[in-house]
Amino acid sequence: MTETALHPAPLIDPFARAISYLRVSVTDRCDFRCVYCMSEQMQFLPKAELLTLEELDRLCSAFVRLGVRKLRITGGEPLVRRNILSFFHAMSRHLESGALEELTLTTNGSQLERFAPDLAAAGVRRINVSLDTLDEAKFARVTRWGRLPQVLKGIDAARAAGLRVKINAVALKGFNEDELLRLTEWCAEGGMDLTWIEVMPMGDLGGEDRVGQFWSLKDVRAALGQHYTLTDLAERTGGPARYVRLEETGQKVGFITPLSHNFCESCNRVRVTCTGELFMCLGQEDNADLRAPLRASAGDGPLEAAIRAAIARKPKGHDFDYSRQRADGQVSRHMSHTGG
Ligand code: SAM
Ligand code: SF4
Repeated sequence: MTETALHPAPLIDPFARAISYLRVSVTDRCDFRCVYCMSEQMQFLPKAELLTLEELDRLCSAFVRLGVRKLRITGGEPLVRRNILSFFHAMSRHLESGALEELTLTTNGSQLERFAPDLAAAGVRRINVSLDTLDEAKFARVTRWGRLPQVLKGIDAARAAGLRVKINAVALKGFNEDELLRLTEWCAEGGMDLTWIEVMPMGDLGGEDRVGQFWSLKDVRAALGQHYTLTDLAERTGGPARYVRLEETGQKVGFITPLSHNFCESCNRVRVTCTGELFMCLGQEDNADLRAPLRASAGDGPLEAAIRAAIARKPKGHDFDYSRQRADGQVSRHMSHTGG
């Protein structure tokens, strides 16, 4: 192998942003039907459309070769994908070689009780668990098919396995506004950080009122500030999240505000769907098909060329905007398709 093949040029986009973070959706399926994410009667993709676990391995490994240091597995619900643990175990070789800094996942927590020890054994250190409410009835309402006790047991199992858990909560007006302090305290007691996410205009969910559901994180932050002393943290992850420390509890609270703020200038990430479409920006329709080059050749040359060509057209930013009381910049894909 030549020196160049061993050390290929890193992925740098036209705005001089290095791509070091890849989020991969490994399935569009899920055992929940969260109201802001899926319709109740979702049509899922035929299996043949999905990348196989071997193809996912080749794809992720190519990105790691090209400089990706952090890999987040998502979905749909990643832990409902058959044999997904074998994929995590396969990816752990990149952690062992030092090529990859972090292997992680975003999960609804329903399968964690079963899988947490194996995830820890595969080198996963931190996970994000999505949880919008601690009220059993409200949880059943927002997830439609989810059961809160199962998720809470999963979170306990993850912590018992030594995984650090960060809770992600979607801020929903009139739904979890009243749980701001309860969720904060519960996370503090469990030594968990908490990140609030603004609801985004993804997919056509038939009559969901996105503008009405929108609870600005400026308001979430202001409400939190009435009860805690907030210190801004300089920490940046290259994504649309900003963090504060609550001095009274020491915990970190994050705000993901793709709508009220736009942090695209430091974007270091791209996303791959479960069918191998590479989205250079969550908020834009432009994408590149990586499945065709994967399936066209047993070698990774065409795949790497397709990745480079796509990164060369990563856009400057997205166009989501609620400021005119409409969900402007809406993209038609569901979050479960692109991977949240
Ligand atoms: N099933 C896993 C889970 O729920 O964590 C991973 C995939 S899910 C699509 C990833 C994240 O996207 C979750 O935290 C979910 O709450 C969030 N999400 C889904 N639809 C959203 C929307 N319309 N706006 C904002 N966040 C959304
Ligand atoms: Fe499933 Fe996650 Fe979407 Fe909820 S947010 S329906 S758990 S993929």
